[in-house]
Amino acid sequence: MQTPVTRFAPSPTGHLHIGGARTALFSWAFARGRGGGFVLRIEDTDQKRSSDDATRGILEDLRWLAIDWDRGPDAPNEQTDTGGPFYQSQRLEIYDRFIAQLVDADLAYPAFDTSEELDAMRAEAKAAKRTFRYVRAPGYDRAAAMERMQREQHVVRFRMPPEAITVHDVVLGEVTTSADELDDFVIRKADGFPTYHLAVVVDDELMGVTHVLRGQEHLNNTPRHVALQRALKRDDGTPFRTPAYAHMPLIFNPDGSKMSKRDKDKALKAVVRDLGGVAKAMEHPGRGAITADEASLEAWLGDKTAQLPTDALDGLARAFNVDLPEINVEDFRAAGYLPEVVCNYIALLGWQKGSDVERFTIAEFVERFDLDQIGKTAAKFDREKLLAFNFDTMRELGVEALAARWREWCARYDEALPAQLGERFELAAKMAQPRAKTLRQLREPIAFTLLADDAIEYDEKAVQKSLLKNDGAGLALLGELRTMLGELDDWSPEALDAACAAFAETRGVGMGQVAQPLRVAVTGAGVSPGLGETLALLGYKRAVARIDRCATLANE
Ligand code: GLU
Repeated sequence: MQTPVTRFAPSPTGHLHIGGARTALFSWAFARGRGGGFVLRIEDTDQKRSSDDATRGILEDLRWLAIDWDRGPDAPNEQTDTGGPFYQSQRLEIYDRFIAQLVDADLAYPAFDTSEELDAMRAEAKAAKRTFRYVRAPGYDRAAAMERMQREQHVVRFRMPPEAITVHDVVLGEVTTSADELDDFVIRKADGFPTYHLAVVVDDELMGVTHVLRGQEHLNNTPRHVALQRALKRDDGTPFRTPAYAHMPLIFNPDGSKMSKRDKDKALKAVVRDLGGVAKAMEHPGRGAITADEASLEAWLGDKTAQLPTDALDGLARAFNVDLPEINVEDFRAAGYLPEVVCNYIALLGWQKGSDVERFTIAEFVERFDLDQIGKTAAKFDREKLLAFNFDTMRELGVEALAARWREWCARYDEALPAQLGERFELAAKMAQPRAKTLRQLREPIAFTLLADDAIEYDEKAVQKSLLKNDGAGLALLGELRTMLGELDDWSPEALDAACAAFAETRGVGMGQVAQPLRVAVTGAGVSPGLGETLALLGYKRAVARIDRCATLANE
Protein backbone atom coordinates (compact mmCIF):
# COMPACT_ATOMS: atom_id res chain seq x y z
CA MET A 1 0.00 0.00 0.00
CA GLN A 2 1.19 3.51 -0.79
CA THR A 3 1.84 5.74 2.22
CA PRO A 4 -1.51 7.30 3.00
CA VAL A 5 -2.26 10.98 3.12
CA THR A 6 -5.44 11.93 4.93
CA ARG A 7 -6.94 15.27 5.68
CA PHE A 8 -9.38 17.04 7.90
CA ALA A 9 -11.26 19.78 6.11
CA PRO A 10 -13.47 21.76 8.47
CA SER A 11 -15.65 24.65 7.37
CA PRO A 12 -15.00 27.45 9.86
CA THR A 13 -18.63 28.37 10.32
CA GLY A 14 -18.77 27.62 14.03
CA HIS A 15 -17.27 25.55 16.79
CA LEU A 16 -15.70 22.15 16.24
CA HIS A 17 -18.47 19.65 16.87
CA ILE A 18 -17.63 16.41 18.61
CA GLY A 19 -18.46 14.56 15.36
CA GLY A 20 -15.91 16.69 13.52
CA ALA A 21 -13.37 15.87 16.20
CA ARG A 22 -14.00 12.18 15.61
CA THR A 23 -13.46 12.61 11.86
CA ALA A 24 -10.22 14.43 12.59
CA LEU A 25 -9.09 11.79 15.09
CA PHE A 26 -9.78 8.84 12.78
CA SER A 27 -8.15 10.53 9.78
CA TRP A 28 -5.13 11.49 11.84
CA ALA A 29 -4.81 8.07 13.49
CA PHE A 30 -5.02 6.27 10.16
CA ALA A 31 -2.17 8.33 8.72
CA ARG A 32 -0.07 8.26 11.90
CA GLY A 33 -0.36 4.49 12.19
CA ARG A 34 1.13 4.07 8.71
CA GLY A 35 3.83 6.69 8.59
CA GLY A 36 1.60 8.81 6.38
CA GLY A 37 0.78 12.50 6.23
CA PHE A 38 -2.10 14.43 7.69
CA VAL A 39 -3.33 17.66 6.13
CA LEU A 40 -5.50 20.32 7.73
CA ARG A 41 -7.41 22.38 5.22
CA ILE A 42 -9.76 25.23 6.07
CA GLU A 43 -12.80 25.20 3.79
CA ASP A 44 -13.77 28.83 3.97
CA THR A 45 -15.46 29.32 0.62
CA ASP A 46 -18.76 30.28 2.20
CA GLN A 47 -17.78 33.89 2.71
CA LYS A 48 -20.83 34.88 4.70
CA ARG A 49 -20.68 32.05 7.20
CA SER A 50 -16.92 31.64 7.68
CA SER A 51 -14.94 33.55 10.27
CA ASP A 52 -11.35 33.85 11.46
CA ASP A 53 -12.57 33.34 15.00
CA ALA A 54 -14.06 30.01 14.09
CA THR A 55 -10.80 28.97 12.39
CA ARG A 56 -8.79 29.94 15.45
CA GLY A 57 -11.18 28.00 17.66
CA ILE A 58 -10.93 24.87 15.52
CA LEU A 59 -7.12 24.96 15.46
CA GLU A 60 -7.09 25.40 19.20
CA ASP A 61 -9.53 22.56 19.80
CA LEU A 62 -7.44 20.22 17.63
CA ARG A 63 -4.29 21.18 19.49
CA TRP A 64 -6.01 20.56 22.78
CA LEU A 65 -6.93 17.06 21.59
CA ALA A 66 -3.27 16.60 20.57
CA ILE A 67 -4.22 16.06 16.94
CA ASP A 68 -1.33 17.58 15.01
CA TRP A 69 -0.97 18.16 11.29
CA ASP A 70 2.12 18.07 9.08
CA ARG A 71 0.67 20.36 6.45
CA GLY A 72 -1.83 23.15 6.93
CA PRO A 73 -2.26 26.45 8.77
CA ASP A 74 0.69 27.20 11.07
CA ALA A 75 2.58 24.07 9.97
CA PRO A 76 6.34 24.72 9.75
CA ASN A 77 6.36 24.48 5.96
CA GLU A 78 3.02 26.21 5.42
CA GLN A 79 4.48 28.89 3.14
CA THR A 80 6.74 26.65 1.07
CA ASP A 81 4.59 23.55 0.80
CA THR A 82 3.64 23.11 -2.83
CA GLY A 83 0.23 21.77 -1.85
CA GLY A 84 -0.66 25.05 -0.08
CA PRO A 85 -2.10 27.50 0.69
CA PHE A 86 -4.38 25.60 3.03
CA TYR A 87 -7.17 28.12 3.22
CA GLN A 88 -9.54 27.63 0.31
CA SER A 89 -10.27 31.36 0.18
CA GLN A 90 -6.60 31.81 -0.84
CA ARG A 91 -6.85 29.30 -3.69
CA LEU A 92 -9.36 31.00 -5.98
CA GLU A 93 -6.93 31.23 -8.90
CA ILE A 94 -6.28 27.51 -8.67
CA TYR A 95 -9.98 26.71 -8.78
CA ASP A 96 -10.53 29.13 -11.66
CA ARG A 97 -7.85 27.32 -13.63
CA PHE A 98 -9.65 23.99 -13.29
CA ILE A 99 -13.05 25.52 -13.92
CA ALA A 100 -11.68 27.06 -17.13
CA GLN A 101 -10.32 23.64 -18.10
CA LEU A 102 -13.79 22.15 -17.79
CA VAL A 103 -15.52 25.05 -19.56
CA ASP A 104 -13.02 24.92 -22.45
CA ALA A 105 -13.71 21.23 -22.88
CA ASP A 106 -17.46 21.90 -22.69
CA LEU A 107 -17.64 19.73 -19.58
CA ALA A 108 -18.95 22.73 -17.69
CA TYR A 109 -20.84 25.81 -18.78
CA PRO A 110 -22.04 29.19 -17.57
CA ALA A 111 -25.70 29.48 -16.60
CA PHE A 112 -27.59 32.73 -16.22
CA ASP A 113 -30.85 31.74 -14.56
CA THR A 114 -32.19 34.22 -12.06
CA SER A 115 -33.36 32.95 -8.70
CA GLU A 116 -36.96 33.60 -9.80
CA GLU A 117 -36.44 31.40 -12.83
CA LEU A 118 -34.95 28.67 -10.71
CA ASP A 119 -37.83 28.91 -8.25
CA ALA A 120 -40.30 28.58 -11.12
CA MET A 121 -38.50 25.45 -12.38
CA ARG A 122 -38.61 23.97 -8.89
CA ALA A 123 -42.31 24.75 -8.54
CA GLU A 124 -43.01 23.18 -11.88
CA ALA A 125 -41.17 20.00 -10.93
CA LYS A 126 -43.01 19.89 -7.66
CA ALA A 127 -46.38 20.25 -9.35
CA ALA A 128 -45.46 17.39 -11.67
CA LYS A 129 -44.34 15.38 -8.63
CA ARG A 130 -40.79 14.86 -9.80
CA THR A 131 -37.56 15.90 -8.10
CA PHE A 132 -36.03 18.99 -9.56
CA ARG A 133 -32.97 18.34 -11.66
CA TYR A 134 -31.13 21.02 -13.53
CA VAL A 135 -29.87 19.80 -16.90
CA ARG A 136 -28.63 21.85 -19.78
CA ALA A 137 -31.39 22.52 -22.30
CA PRO A 138 -30.87 20.78 -25.64
CA GLY A 139 -30.90 24.09 -27.50
CA TYR A 140 -28.20 25.69 -25.34
CA ASP A 141 -26.20 28.13 -27.46
CA ARG A 142 -22.64 27.68 -26.26
CA ALA A 143 -21.05 30.40 -28.40
CA ALA A 144 -23.56 33.00 -27.19
CA ALA A 145 -23.11 31.84 -23.59
CA MET A 146 -19.33 32.19 -23.83
CA GLU A 147 -19.78 35.77 -24.87
CA ARG A 148 -22.43 36.60 -22.28
CA MET A 149 -20.16 35.13 -19.64
CA GLN A 150 -17.73 38.04 -20.08
CA ARG A 151 -20.38 40.62 -19.19
CA GLU A 152 -23.05 39.03 -17.08
CA GLN A 153 -23.28 37.58 -13.66
CA HIS A 154 -23.46 33.80 -13.86
CA VAL A 155 -22.74 30.53 -12.17
CA VAL A 156 -20.78 27.71 -13.73
CA ARG A 157 -22.40 24.29 -13.80
CA PHE A 158 -20.78 20.92 -14.32
CA ARG A 159 -22.31 18.77 -17.06
CA MET A 160 -23.16 15.66 -15.22
CA PRO A 161 -22.68 12.67 -17.53
CA PRO A 162 -26.00 10.80 -17.88
CA GLU A 163 -24.83 7.65 -16.15
CA ALA A 164 -25.08 5.94 -12.79
CA ILE A 165 -22.09 6.36 -10.53
CA THR A 166 -20.82 3.76 -8.11
CA VAL A 167 -18.77 4.78 -5.11
CA HIS A 168 -16.61 2.06 -3.57
CA ASP A 169 -16.78 2.93 0.07
CA VAL A 170 -14.46 1.14 2.48
CA VAL A 171 -17.17 1.11 5.13
CA LEU A 172 -20.41 0.85 3.20
CA GLY A 173 -19.32 -1.16 0.19
CA GLU A 174 -20.61 -0.22 -3.25
CA VAL A 175 -23.07 2.63 -3.26
CA THR A 176 -24.65 3.35 -6.63
CA THR A 177 -26.47 6.53 -7.47
CA SER A 178 -28.62 6.49 -10.60
CA ALA A 179 -28.28 9.18 -13.24
CA ASP A 180 -31.70 10.66 -12.52
CA GLU A 181 -30.63 11.53 -8.99
CA LEU A 182 -27.77 13.69 -10.24
CA ASP A 183 -27.96 16.96 -12.10
CA ASP A 184 -25.73 19.68 -13.50
CA PHE A 185 -24.60 21.08 -10.18
CA VAL A 186 -22.96 24.45 -9.64
CA ILE A 187 -19.18 24.47 -9.36
CA ARG A 188 -18.63 28.23 -9.23
CA LYS A 189 -21.07 30.53 -7.49
CA ALA A 190 -22.11 33.96 -8.72
CA ASP A 191 -19.70 35.55 -6.22
CA GLY A 192 -16.78 33.89 -8.01
CA PHE A 193 -16.12 31.38 -5.22
CA PRO A 194 -16.05 27.69 -6.06
CA THR A 195 -18.63 25.44 -4.47
CA TYR A 196 -17.62 22.86 -1.93
CA HIS A 197 -17.80 20.09 -4.56
CA LEU A 198 -15.26 21.64 -6.88
CA ALA A 199 -12.90 22.88 -4.20
CA VAL A 200 -12.81 19.61 -2.30
CA VAL A 201 -12.01 17.60 -5.44
CA VAL A 202 -9.28 19.94 -6.65
CA ASP A 203 -7.68 20.16 -3.22
CA ASP A 204 -7.77 16.45 -2.43
CA GLU A 205 -5.99 15.88 -5.74
CA LEU A 206 -3.38 18.62 -5.46
CA MET A 207 -2.68 17.90 -1.82
CA GLY A 208 -2.08 14.23 -2.59
CA VAL A 209 -4.91 12.94 -0.41
CA THR A 210 -5.24 9.17 -0.74
CA HIS A 211 -7.98 8.43 1.81
CA VAL A 212 -11.01 10.58 2.57
CA LEU A 213 -12.66 9.87 5.90
CA ARG A 214 -15.76 11.89 6.61
CA GLY A 215 -19.25 11.65 8.04
CA GLN A 216 -22.03 9.77 6.31
CA GLU A 217 -23.87 13.06 5.80
CA HIS A 218 -21.48 13.61 2.91
CA LEU A 219 -22.20 10.31 1.19
CA ASN A 220 -24.61 11.79 -1.33
CA ASN A 221 -21.98 14.35 -2.35
CA THR A 222 -19.48 11.68 -3.26
CA PRO A 223 -20.88 10.64 -6.69
CA ARG A 224 -20.56 14.27 -7.75
CA HIS A 225 -16.98 14.26 -6.59
CA VAL A 226 -16.25 11.06 -8.48
CA ALA A 227 -17.77 12.53 -11.65
CA LEU A 228 -15.56 15.61 -11.31
CA GLN A 229 -12.48 13.44 -10.73
CA ARG A 230 -13.22 11.59 -13.96
CA ALA A 231 -13.52 14.86 -15.87
CA LEU A 232 -10.50 16.74 -14.52
CA LYS A 233 -6.81 16.59 -15.43
CA ARG A 234 -3.81 18.01 -13.69
CA ASP A 235 -1.82 20.71 -15.49
CA ASP A 236 0.54 18.05 -16.87
CA GLY A 237 -2.38 16.12 -18.32
CA THR A 238 -2.55 13.25 -15.82
CA PRO A 239 -6.11 12.47 -14.83
CA PHE A 240 -7.30 13.10 -11.28
CA ARG A 241 -7.33 10.05 -9.00
CA THR A 242 -10.31 8.93 -6.96
CA PRO A 243 -9.19 8.57 -3.35
CA ALA A 244 -10.44 5.76 -1.13
CA TYR A 245 -13.58 6.84 0.72
CA ALA A 246 -14.64 5.87 4.20
CA HIS A 247 -17.91 7.42 5.35
CA MET A 248 -18.38 7.21 9.09
CA PRO A 249 -21.62 6.62 10.96
CA LEU A 250 -23.50 9.57 12.39
CA ILE A 251 -23.44 10.21 16.11
CA PHE A 252 -26.75 10.13 17.95
CA ASN A 253 -28.01 10.88 21.43
CA PRO A 254 -29.06 7.85 23.46
CA ASP A 255 -32.70 8.71 22.61
CA GLY A 256 -31.94 8.34 18.92
CA SER A 257 -32.01 12.03 18.00
CA LYS A 258 -29.09 13.52 16.15
CA MET A 259 -26.48 15.03 18.44
CA SER A 260 -26.38 18.71 17.60
CA LYS A 261 -26.48 22.22 18.94
CA ARG A 262 -30.24 21.90 18.87
CA ASP A 263 -29.92 19.81 22.05
CA LYS A 264 -28.86 22.96 23.89
CA ASP A 265 -31.89 24.85 22.63
CA LYS A 266 -34.08 21.95 23.66
CA ALA A 267 -32.64 21.82 27.19
CA LEU A 268 -33.09 25.56 27.67
CA LYS A 269 -36.60 25.64 26.24
CA ALA A 270 -37.55 23.09 28.88
CA VAL A 271 -36.02 25.27 31.61
CA VAL A 272 -37.83 28.41 30.41
CA ARG A 273 -41.10 26.51 30.25
CA ASP A 274 -40.56 25.17 33.77
CA LEU A 275 -40.03 28.72 34.94
CA GLY A 276 -43.46 29.57 33.56
CA GLY A 277 -42.60 31.08 30.17
CA VAL A 278 -40.44 33.91 28.88
CA ALA A 279 -42.00 36.75 30.90
CA LYS A 280 -41.57 34.83 34.15
CA ALA A 281 -38.06 33.72 33.18
CA MET A 282 -37.12 37.38 32.64
CA GLU A 283 -37.81 37.96 36.35
CA HIS A 284 -35.32 35.26 37.39
CA PRO A 285 -32.62 36.57 39.78
CA GLY A 286 -29.97 35.62 37.21
CA ARG A 287 -31.61 37.64 34.43
CA GLY A 288 -28.59 39.95 34.21
CA ALA A 289 -26.83 37.30 32.12
CA ILE A 290 -29.59 37.10 29.50
CA THR A 291 -28.48 38.76 26.29
CA ALA A 292 -31.42 37.95 24.01
CA ASP A 293 -34.44 40.25 24.08
CA GLU A 294 -37.86 39.13 25.18
CA ALA A 295 -39.43 39.17 21.73
CA SER A 296 -36.82 36.92 20.16
CA LEU A 297 -37.04 34.58 23.13
CA GLU A 298 -40.81 34.36 22.66
CA ALA A 299 -40.35 33.53 18.99
CA TRP A 300 -37.69 30.95 19.85
CA LEU A 301 -39.78 29.29 22.54
CA GLY A 302 -42.82 29.13 20.30
CA ASP A 303 -41.01 27.39 17.45
CA LYS A 304 -39.80 23.86 18.05
CA THR A 305 -37.05 24.10 15.47
CA ALA A 306 -35.85 27.63 16.25
CA GLN A 307 -32.29 27.94 17.50
CA LEU A 308 -30.57 30.79 19.31
CA PRO A 309 -26.97 31.81 18.61
CA THR A 310 -24.44 30.11 20.89
CA ASP A 311 -23.72 33.30 22.86
CA ALA A 312 -27.39 33.79 23.65
CA LEU A 313 -27.68 30.16 24.78
CA ASP A 314 -24.65 30.53 27.02
CA GLY A 315 -26.19 33.66 28.54
CA LEU A 316 -29.41 31.83 29.36
CA ALA A 317 -27.52 28.89 30.83
CA ARG A 318 -25.63 31.26 33.11
CA ALA A 319 -28.79 33.13 34.06
CA PHE A 320 -30.61 29.99 35.15
CA ASN A 321 -27.47 28.21 36.33
CA VAL A 322 -27.97 25.10 34.22
CA ASP A 323 -25.38 22.88 32.57
CA LEU A 324 -26.07 22.51 28.87
CA PRO A 325 -25.43 19.24 27.07
CA GLU A 326 -21.91 19.34 25.68
CA ILE A 327 -21.80 19.25 21.89
CA ASN A 328 -18.66 21.08 20.82
CA VAL A 329 -15.11 20.18 21.77
CA GLU A 330 -14.91 23.46 23.65
CA ASP A 331 -17.95 22.45 25.74
CA PHE A 332 -16.19 19.31 26.91
CA ARG A 333 -13.04 21.23 27.66
CA ALA A 334 -14.96 23.83 29.67
CA ALA A 335 -16.82 21.09 31.54
CA GLY A 336 -13.46 19.75 32.73
CA TYR A 337 -12.94 16.61 30.67
CA LEU A 338 -9.38 15.53 29.95
CA PRO A 339 -8.48 15.60 26.26
CA GLU A 340 -7.11 12.05 26.23
CA VAL A 341 -10.41 10.86 27.70
CA VAL A 342 -12.40 12.69 25.04
CA CYS A 343 -10.20 11.10 22.36
CA ASN A 344 -10.54 7.65 23.92
CA TYR A 345 -14.30 8.00 24.11
CA ILE A 346 -14.88 9.34 20.61
CA ALA A 347 -12.62 6.62 19.23
CA LEU A 348 -15.28 4.19 20.41
CA LEU A 349 -17.96 5.92 18.35
CA GLY A 350 -18.09 3.78 15.28
CA TRP A 351 -14.89 1.83 15.81
CA GLN A 352 -15.47 -1.89 16.02
CA LYS A 353 -12.21 -2.87 17.56
CA GLY A 354 -12.85 -6.57 17.94
CA SER A 355 -12.19 -6.66 21.69
CA ASP A 356 -13.92 -5.68 24.91
CA VAL A 357 -11.23 -3.28 26.01
CA GLU A 358 -12.84 0.12 26.10
CA ARG A 359 -10.16 2.24 27.65
CA PHE A 360 -6.91 2.65 25.79
CA THR A 361 -4.29 5.25 25.10
CA ILE A 362 -4.28 7.19 21.87
CA ALA A 363 -1.04 5.45 20.92
CA GLU A 364 -2.82 2.11 21.25
CA PHE A 365 -5.65 3.39 19.10
CA VAL A 366 -3.23 4.59 16.42
CA GLU A 367 -1.55 1.22 16.43
CA ARG A 368 -4.71 -0.84 16.11
CA PHE A 369 -7.13 1.25 14.08
CA ASP A 370 -7.93 0.31 10.50
CA LEU A 371 -10.60 1.50 8.10
CA ASP A 372 -12.37 -1.84 7.78
CA GLN A 373 -13.14 -1.61 11.51
CA ILE A 374 -15.42 1.40 11.06
CA GLY A 375 -19.02 0.42 11.71
CA LYS A 376 -21.92 1.08 9.39
CA THR A 377 -24.59 1.90 11.93
CA ALA A 378 -25.11 5.03 13.95
CA ALA A 379 -23.04 5.47 17.07
CA LYS A 380 -24.61 6.51 20.37
CA PHE A 381 -23.08 9.14 22.54
CA ASP A 382 -23.31 8.04 26.14
CA ARG A 383 -22.40 10.90 28.47
CA GLU A 384 -22.51 8.72 31.58
CA LYS A 385 -19.85 6.51 30.12
CA LEU A 386 -17.68 9.43 29.15
CA LEU A 387 -18.07 10.81 32.66
CA ALA A 388 -17.09 7.45 34.15
CA PHE A 389 -13.99 7.33 31.91
CA ASN A 390 -13.03 10.80 33.04
CA PHE A 391 -13.54 9.95 36.70
CA ASP A 392 -11.36 6.86 36.41
CA THR A 393 -8.64 8.66 34.51
CA MET A 394 -8.55 11.51 37.00
CA ARG A 395 -8.23 9.05 39.85
CA GLU A 396 -5.37 7.26 38.14
CA LEU A 397 -3.33 10.45 37.84
CA GLY A 398 -0.82 11.19 40.58
CA VAL A 399 -1.80 14.16 42.75
CA GLU A 400 0.93 16.29 41.26
CA ALA A 401 -0.15 15.54 37.72
CA LEU A 402 -3.79 16.13 38.56
CA ALA A 403 -2.93 19.44 40.19
CA ALA A 404 -1.01 20.48 37.07
CA ARG A 405 -3.97 19.65 34.84
CA TRP A 406 -6.34 21.47 37.15
CA ARG A 407 -4.08 24.52 37.18
CA GLU A 408 -4.08 24.58 33.39
CA TRP A 409 -7.84 24.31 33.32
CA CYS A 410 -8.21 27.08 35.90
CA ALA A 411 -6.06 29.41 33.81
CA ARG A 412 -8.88 29.32 31.26
CA TYR A 413 -12.04 28.81 33.23
CA ASP A 414 -11.52 29.66 36.91
CA GLU A 415 -8.73 32.16 36.96
CA ALA A 416 -9.00 33.31 40.57
CA LEU A 417 -8.92 29.86 42.10
CA PRO A 418 -5.17 29.07 42.14
CA ALA A 419 -4.40 32.38 43.84
CA GLN A 420 -7.15 31.77 46.38
CA LEU A 421 -5.73 28.37 47.26
CA GLY A 422 -2.12 29.51 47.12
CA GLU A 423 0.33 26.89 48.29
CA ARG A 424 -2.53 24.65 49.37
CA PHE A 425 -3.51 24.02 45.74
CA GLU A 426 -2.05 20.52 45.69
CA LEU A 427 -3.62 19.57 48.98
CA ALA A 428 -6.96 20.75 47.60
CA ALA A 429 -6.43 18.60 44.50
CA LYS A 430 -5.65 15.59 46.66
CA MET A 431 -8.76 16.13 48.78
CA ALA A 432 -11.09 16.63 45.83
CA GLN A 433 -9.65 13.86 43.66
CA PRO A 434 -11.73 10.96 45.06
CA ARG A 435 -14.93 13.00 44.76
CA ALA A 436 -14.78 14.78 41.39
CA LYS A 437 -15.61 13.41 37.97
CA THR A 438 -14.35 16.43 36.06
CA LEU A 439 -11.78 19.15 36.61
CA ARG A 440 -14.67 21.56 37.08
CA GLN A 441 -16.06 19.45 39.90
CA LEU A 442 -12.77 19.55 41.81
CA ARG A 443 -13.93 22.86 43.23
CA GLU A 444 -16.95 21.44 45.01
CA PRO A 445 -15.39 19.31 47.78
CA ILE A 446 -13.07 22.15 48.81
CA ALA A 447 -15.54 25.00 48.26
CA PHE A 448 -15.78 25.54 52.03
CA THR A 449 -12.30 27.02 52.10
CA LEU A 450 -13.14 29.57 49.39
CA LEU A 451 -15.72 31.32 51.54
CA ALA A 452 -14.80 34.07 53.97
CA ASP A 453 -14.66 32.72 57.51
CA ASP A 454 -17.63 34.81 58.56
CA ALA A 455 -19.67 33.79 55.52
CA ILE A 456 -20.06 30.12 56.40
CA GLU A 457 -23.69 29.17 56.57
CA TYR A 458 -24.45 26.49 59.08
CA ASP A 459 -26.66 23.58 58.25
CA GLU A 460 -29.35 23.58 61.00
CA LYS A 461 -29.66 19.84 61.15
CA ALA A 462 -25.93 19.25 61.32
CA VAL A 463 -25.56 21.82 64.09
CA GLN A 464 -28.39 20.24 66.03
CA LYS A 465 -27.03 16.77 65.66
CA SER A 466 -23.32 17.32 66.23
CA LEU A 467 -23.21 20.32 68.58
CA LEU A 468 -26.47 20.97 70.45
CA LYS A 469 -27.86 17.50 71.04
CA ASN A 470 -27.36 15.95 74.55
CA ASP A 471 -27.17 19.29 76.31
CA GLY A 472 -24.55 20.60 73.93
CA ALA A 473 -22.05 17.79 74.45
CA GLY A 474 -20.53 18.45 71.02
CA LEU A 475 -20.23 22.14 71.68
CA ALA A 476 -18.42 21.48 74.94
CA LEU A 477 -16.00 19.13 73.21
CA LEU A 478 -15.45 21.75 70.53
CA GLY A 479 -14.16 24.15 73.16
CA GLU A 480 -11.66 21.59 74.41
CA LEU A 481 -10.63 20.73 70.87
CA ARG A 482 -9.94 24.36 70.14
CA THR A 483 -7.49 24.45 73.04
CA MET A 484 -5.88 21.18 71.99
CA LEU A 485 -5.45 22.42 68.40
CA GLY A 486 -3.84 25.62 69.67
CA GLU A 487 -1.08 23.58 71.23
CA LEU A 488 -0.12 21.73 68.05
CA ASP A 489 3.01 22.82 66.14
CA ASP A 490 2.42 20.54 63.19
CA TRP A 491 -0.66 21.36 61.09
CA SER A 492 -0.18 18.67 58.50
CA PRO A 493 -3.24 16.49 57.79
CA GLU A 494 -1.51 13.46 59.30
CA ALA A 495 -0.55 15.25 62.51
CA LEU A 496 -4.04 16.69 62.85
CA ASP A 497 -5.68 13.31 62.37
CA ALA A 498 -3.32 11.76 64.90
CA ALA A 499 -3.96 14.51 67.44
CA CYS A 500 -7.74 14.20 67.09
CA ALA A 501 -7.54 10.41 67.43
CA ALA A 502 -5.40 10.74 70.56
CA PHE A 503 -7.86 13.27 71.96
CA ALA A 504 -10.78 10.91 71.33
CA GLU A 505 -8.94 8.11 73.04
CA THR A 506 -8.06 10.12 76.13
CA ARG A 507 -11.63 11.28 76.43
CA GLY A 508 -12.94 7.80 75.83
CA VAL A 509 -15.23 8.88 72.97
CA GLY A 510 -15.51 7.67 69.39
CA MET A 511 -13.66 9.48 66.61
CA GLY A 512 -17.00 10.56 65.13
CA GLN A 513 -17.88 12.45 68.27
CA VAL A 514 -14.70 14.45 67.87
CA ALA A 515 -14.69 14.82 64.12
CA GLN A 516 -18.29 15.90 63.59
CA PRO A 517 -18.36 18.96 65.87
CA LEU A 518 -15.10 20.15 64.32
CA ARG A 519 -16.23 19.43 60.80
CA VAL A 520 -19.53 21.25 61.24
CA ALA A 521 -17.79 24.18 62.93
CA VAL A 522 -15.25 24.74 60.14
CA THR A 523 -17.31 23.84 57.06
CA GLY A 524 -20.92 24.42 58.10
CA ALA A 525 -21.92 20.90 57.06
CA GLY A 526 -21.64 17.34 58.29
CA VAL A 527 -19.84 16.10 55.17
CA SER A 528 -16.39 17.13 53.97
CA PRO A 529 -13.15 15.48 52.95
CA GLY A 530 -11.00 13.91 55.72
CA LEU A 531 -10.87 15.87 58.97
CA GLY A 532 -7.10 16.37 59.05
CA GLU A 533 -7.10 17.55 55.45
CA THR A 534 -10.08 19.80 56.02
CA LEU A 535 -8.36 21.53 58.95
CA ALA A 536 -5.00 21.69 57.21
CA LEU A 537 -6.54 23.26 54.13
CA LEU A 538 -7.91 26.08 56.26
CA GLY A 539 -4.82 26.49 58.43
CA TYR A 540 -4.80 27.23 62.15
CA LYS A 541 -5.98 30.84 62.10
CA ARG A 542 -8.95 30.37 59.84
CA ALA A 543 -10.00 27.13 61.50
CA VAL A 544 -10.00 28.78 64.92
CA ALA A 545 -11.86 31.84 63.62
CA ARG A 546 -14.57 29.53 62.32
CA ILE A 547 -14.69 27.49 65.52
CA ASP A 548 -15.14 30.68 67.57
CA ARG A 549 -17.83 32.07 65.32
CA CYS A 550 -19.64 28.75 65.31
CA ALA A 551 -19.52 28.53 69.13
CA THR A 552 -20.89 32.06 69.45
CA LEU A 553 -23.72 31.38 67.00
CA ALA A 554 -24.53 28.04 68.63
CA ASN A 555 -24.67 29.60 72.10
CA GLU A 556 -27.13 32.14 70.82
N1 GLU B 1 -15.90 21.21 4.76
C1 GLU B 1 -16.64 20.01 4.84
C2 GLU B 1 -17.31 19.91 6.19
O1 GLU B 1 -16.96 20.63 7.08
C3 GLU B 1 -15.69 18.85 4.62
C4 GLU B 1 -16.32 17.68 4.02
C5 GLU B 1 -15.28 16.69 3.54
O2 GLU B 1 -14.57 16.16 4.38
O3 GLU B 1 -15.17 16.49 2.36
O4 GLU B 1 -18.20 19.17 6.40
